[in-house]
Order: sequence, then C-alpha cells, then structure tokens
Amino acid sequence: MRHAILALNAGSSSIKFGLYDLETSSELQLVSRGALDLGDAPRLSAKAADGTVQCDRPLAGDNAGIGALLHWIESELGSRKLVSAGHRIVHGGREFVEPVRLTPAVIEAIDRLTPLAPLHQPRSLAPIRELAALRRDLPQVGCFDTAFHQTIDPMVSRFALPRKYDAEGIRRYGFHGLSYEYIAGRLNEISPALAAKLTIVAHLGNGASLCAMRDGRSVDTTMGFSALDGLVMGTRCGAIDPGVLLYFLLERGITGEALQHMLYEKSGLLGISGISGDMRMLEASDDPRAREAVDFFAFRAAREVAALANTLGGLECLVFTAGIGEHSALVRKAICERLRWLGVAIDEPANASHAGIISRPDSKVEIRVVATDEESVIARQARMQGNA
Ligand code: ADP
Repeated sequence: MRHAILALNAGSSSIKFGLYDLETSSELQLVSRGALDLGDAPRLSAKAADGTVQCDRPLAGDNAGIGALLHWIESELGSRKLVSAGHRIVHGGREFVEPVRLTPAVIEAIDRLTPLAPLHQPRSLAPIRELAALRRDLPQVGCFDTAFHQTIDPMVSRFALPRKYDAEGIRRYGFHGLSYEYIAGRLNEISPALAAKLTIVAHLGNGASLCAMRDGRSVDTTMGFSALDGLVMGTRCGAIDPGVLLYFLLERGITGEALQHMLYEKSGLLGISGISGDMRMLEASDDPRAREAVDFFAFRAAREVAALANTLGGLECLVFTAGIGEHSALVRKAICERLRWLGVAIDEPANASHAGIISRPDSKVEIRVVATDEESVIARQARMQGNA
C-alpha cells in the first residue's frame, strides 16, 4: 500500500496544508496543496500538483475544522494510507532543536513555551490536539521555526540584560526557520556555489524577517525572543525602543494585554497607514498614508539588511521570498535602491516580470526571487522523524 504524509502550517486565519505521496524513495511527491480558511467564512480549497482545482467549497459551521480537512483528504487518498502528520510549530525554546514525535508529554512541554509566543503557539497547538483527538493512532511530528537558528553565535543571540536571564532562555531565537531551511536547500539545488555565497534571505509575508546565512546556516536574524522584533510587518511593530513600552505601561497606564494587542495586531503597516496591513491593498491605494507605510517598510528592511551584512562580513546574494517578497516588484525595488551603496543593482525589467534572477549583470550582489515552500520542509522532517 502507498503511504502519504500530511504537512500542516497553521497561521492566524487559515491552515495551509500539503499532502505528499511517500512511495518514491528519494523525493516526496506533492499530491495536493491547499488551505483550510477558518474565521467568519470557513472554506476548504485544494489544488493538485499541476494546479487543477480539486476542491473549493464553503464549510458548514459545525464541520469546519481539521475534521473537515481530514475527511476530504481521506476521500482523496484512494489506495494510499495517511501514515504521519507534520506541523509547523512557531516556538521550540531551547529544548526543541529538531523535529520531534508529538506524544502527550511533548505536547505539554511545547504548551509550556506559550508565554514565549502567546499568540502563535496556541495556533500551532490547536490542530495537533484536534488531530490527536480524531486519529489517536496517527503519528504526529512537530517541526520548529526556531530550530534553523540554533547555529547563531551567542554574541548574536544575547541581550544586554543581567546575565542570569540569558541562562534562563531570555535571548534571541529567531523564527521563519522552515522557510529559511527550504530556501537554503533550494539555493543548493540550483548550485552549491550559489549556496556558499554570503546570503541574506528576506522572508516578507504578513510576518517578516531576514536571515543571514553562511554556507546555508543561519548566522543572524531579525526576529528575536518573540516574533515582534526586527522588520515592520503587516500588523506587528518590529524593532522598537523598549522605553516606549515602559512609557505606555508606567505613564499611560495601558494594561499588558492591551499593549500586546497593539504591538501584534494594530501596528506595522496597518498602524502607520491606518488603512490596511495587507501590502497588496496598500499598493493599490492612492492615499498618501499608504505610500508612506510602503516606503517605511522598505526603509526599515534595507536598514536591517545592512546590519545583517555586517554580521556576515559582506553580502553576495539577496533572496526575496514569501507573499511580498515573491510578488511585490515595488517593494523589492524600493529595498534594493536603498542598498545601492552595498553594490546591489536591480534589473528593473527582470524585477517587474518577477524573474528568478533580478540583479543586473554588473551587480556585486546576486538578487533572486525564490518561492518558499514550508510545507515540503514539514513533510520531509516528518518523514525523517518517522524513519528515525
Ligand atoms: P503569511 O505570513 O500569512 O504566510 P504571505 O507570505 O502569504 O503571508 O504574505 C502575505 C502578504 O503578501 C500580504 O501583505 C499580501 O498583500 C502580500 N502580497 C501577496 N501578493 C501580492 C502582490 N501581488 N503584490 C503585493 N503584495 C502581495
């Protein structure tokens, strides 16, 4: 009997999934890719590897969760059997630095990390628990967004706080690791010489971060202890003077919960524009505040690229990925123009057509656009864990 693996990537309002055939010995074969939209209008959509629509329908309220997805998947599997499910988990803390089989004890240990990622960790855990309740015998594997950054130097991970806190785990972890692992692997597939370059990957989606890589390993990243640090994001503030937070808490009497809500949900592109946290909507808007937000996003991203280039000791390759990185020629151009002094020279026609290589031949830095695929990394890690 043929076997299949399900990869689940839970976000704020949807769960992306990939279903893979395990039969071929070396490569996982994509069978279906899709999303379970939660929220007000639950919906299940899926496409086959060739882009054919397999499913696109609203879900009834009481049958709108993982159960509906599982039901659809099992109807599609035919003679295949689902043998494992892998999950993206945002925070692995210090303990989880590689994929792990999700036993009840492990799930509890992951749940204990919730204070480190109060909004994201519960989203990661919900589908795991739902699936465990529905299919108790199905092995589940946790794949951690923090794990890729375990190679960063203590100098990079440390905060200048009293040193006991570092030992207690109050340090930079970094996120988006599954995406960075995919990009590192993809660069190596394109050419080992490319993968050996001093590289900065810009994962620009609703959440956004940069990762500096040497030989495909993380040496620095913009997100920190939490997924708030670094770049301006859709609704998150990015790097901010901690004095501002103290001022809100101590002088303005804002509660911790209200401050958390402002920093995660009301800031970033949404906060600056007052219009939307969605880059596509801002690009389509004539409102000057929308333009201001887009410019600010690019300004801060370019500033952080320069900071990470300093950790790397140079910059030879810049990769754009995720929703904004893959699709917004405007943002890529704005970032690259601010990095001209570093030898970054963008080819405008290539950029406008979203080509794979968007640098001019005379650019000192190769600029690439690479579509990320976190689900394939989850599936691969889940398979490895199953074989371990
Ligand atoms: P998530 O972090 O939720 O996985 P994505 O990687 O899907 O997010 O990125 C979502 C972001 O990408 C949104 O800001 C969206 O507007 C932006 N985006 C998607 N397509 C385009 C496009 N064609 N032009 C500009 N921005 C885009």
